[in-house]
Amino acid sequence: MSSRLEVLVVGAGIAGLATAIALHREGMSVDVIERSPKSRAGGAGLFLPGNSVRALTALGLGKHLGELGVPVPGQRLLDHRGRVLADIDMAELWKGTADCVGITRSDLHAALQDIMPVPVGHGVTVVSLRHADDGMYDHGVHVEFSDGGSGHYDVVVGADGIRSNLRESVDPAAGTRRLGQFCWRFLTDAPDIDRWTVWLGPGTAFLAYPVGGGRVCCYADVATASPEDPTTTTGLLGLFSDYDQRVRDLLGTPAALDAYSSPVEEVSSRAWARGRLVLVGDAAHASSPNMAQGVAMAVEDALVLAEVLGAGGDTERLLQQYVQRRLPRTRWVQRQTHRRDRTRSMPSAARNIAFRYGAKALYERGYAPLRVLP
Ligand SMILES: Cc1cc2nc3c(=O)[nH]c(=O)nc-3n(C[C@H](O)[C@H](O)[C@H](O)COP(=O)(O)OP(=O)(O)OC[C@H]3O[C@@H](n4cnc5c(N)ncnc54)[C@H](O)[C@@H]3O)c2cc1C
Repeated sequence: MSSRLEVLVVGAGIAGLATAIALHREGMSVDVIERSPKSRAGGAGLFLPGNSVRALTALGLGKHLGELGVPVPGQRLLDHRGRVLADIDMAELWKGTADCVGITRSDLHAALQDIMPVPVGHGVTVVSLRHADDGMYDHGVHVEFSDGGSGHYDVVVGADGIRSNLRESVDPAAGTRRLGQFCWRFLTDAPDIDRWTVWLGPGTAFLAYPVGGGRVCCYADVATASPEDPTTTTGLLGLFSDYDQRVRDLLGTPAALDAYSSPVEEVSSRAWARGRLVLVGDAAHASSPNMAQGVAMAVEDALVLAEVLGAGGDTERLLQQYVQRRLPRTRWVQRQTHRRDRTRSMPSAARNIAFRYGAKALYERGYAPLRVLP
């Protein structure tokens, strides 16, 4: 157990909540602030591959996942007309790690809050941060908050998501990069869809996977260089008009009209820690969702950070150790997402053949290193 480090976590998304839980369990004193005035888990669903479920279980959420989520034993790849290209046995792929799970974002958020050991300070953000080497304190970071308060911490963790403000103080050169896609997601009823199922069209893709209670999370995307919603004139259904009837039915449900939408972006940074400031989750390494590794990487960050700081020693060195341990794995995930994205620019016929004969190997190669403990 470490000496009792005082830690501020900025942001109460999945990464921030997981970090607070993991650090508190290591005996640290944790404050958490969240910019939004109340708890909100926007978005639709989450597919959690085996390493994600393993990390969440290590955090203490095994029972919650069993009750709130649904096992997703397979992934099916189809062409846009509904012809099967490949069936991946996810139970086999993640054997010995954990079963894959589908869950709504709001359920996962509620589960994390259920085991949160400290309250979240909502409606508060950081106004200024100063490394306290000015003689006033021996070490640490002096923080001023938007509600007029202030605090002094041994470590400040930036868990403030893809548009992180803290990242500016850690790695000013890093930023977000658009990946050439625009996406939509929504929840709707579809009890017949019992596995992760993707329909692949020319320049577009549509995905649905179960999240429990007979509902599915639907995700649609289109290749486009523009950050603007390309469906303002055609509507989402217009973009998928030549797709399989099942896709058009799902896009015809009322929920599709209120879909969350955004360009797909990533963050690439190699400097996640400076002095006593450190980044976790999307703030450090947001990726394209095509590997569904966002939650896994965020929760693994939390567990590794807690383990490293918990061992005790020079805090700044420990934070650099955390970065060195996490960087290769998150870079690997990003490289795999780029690789998957490259299949989008292939002519459909060639891509279909590649998936028909190569999908299993692609999955095995992409996920195998993630079966190893972080
Ligand atoms: C379309 C899409 C689909 C995805 N699908 C999956 C999936 O199926 N499976 C999966 O594992 N991952 C998926 N992901 C990724 C996953 O959602 C994230 O990686 C994960 O939620 C971790 O997010 P985070 O906590 O780091 O950031 P966020 O969820 O963005 O949380 C950041 C929090 O910080 C708060 N905040 C921001 N700035 C400040 C500030 N200055 N002060 C205080 N608080 C602040 C925000 O309000 C927010 O609550 C998907 C992502 C996208 C975009």
